[in-house]
Amino acid sequence: MVSACLLGEKCRYNGKGYHFPSLVESLSGYSVIPVCPEILGGLPVPRPPCELKGGDGELVWQAQAGVFTEDGRDLTPAFCAGACNTLALAEKNGVKLAVLKDRSPSCGCNKIYDGSFRRRLVAGVGVTTALLKKHGIKVIAETDWSARRRNNDV
Ligand code: SF4
Repeated sequence: MVSACLLGEKCRYNGKGYHFPSLVESLSGYSVIPVCPEILGGLPVPRPPCELKGGDGELVWQAQAGVFTEDGRDLTPAFCAGACNTLALAEKNGVKLAVLKDRSPSCGCNKIYDGSFRRRLVAGVGVTTALLKKHGIKVIAETDWSARRRNNDV
């Protein structure tokens, strides 16, 4: 399972996707399921940027943190619905590994933005990453995937 935006799908909050030809190439030979948890949660493209407040995705599942727009709209239910739908898709397809886009409030694996909307990063995971890991699915950031592929470590 791979974050759809990493594969060029225009599903990001700003209506864009990423262009990472080397990442796409490194996935050849794998059975890849593209997924955008925020779209699966019913959010539109484009949509307002969101950040986690009160903690990371793990704390969202303990009802101690949430996902908000800069003007304070609580979109936590949509992010949680997207994560649950992503998990269901992963389990239905027997997914063992997810390569997700770091820094996203859904897909972040190592770092997330700190909720100040000032582009400040802190250690933590997104809402979907936390749920997948809780259910035994290995999740790694796209940068870690590329490094491990270079070292023949996956
Ligand atoms: S980072 Fe995840 S939620 Fe955000 S656009 Fe990419 S796939 Fe969708």
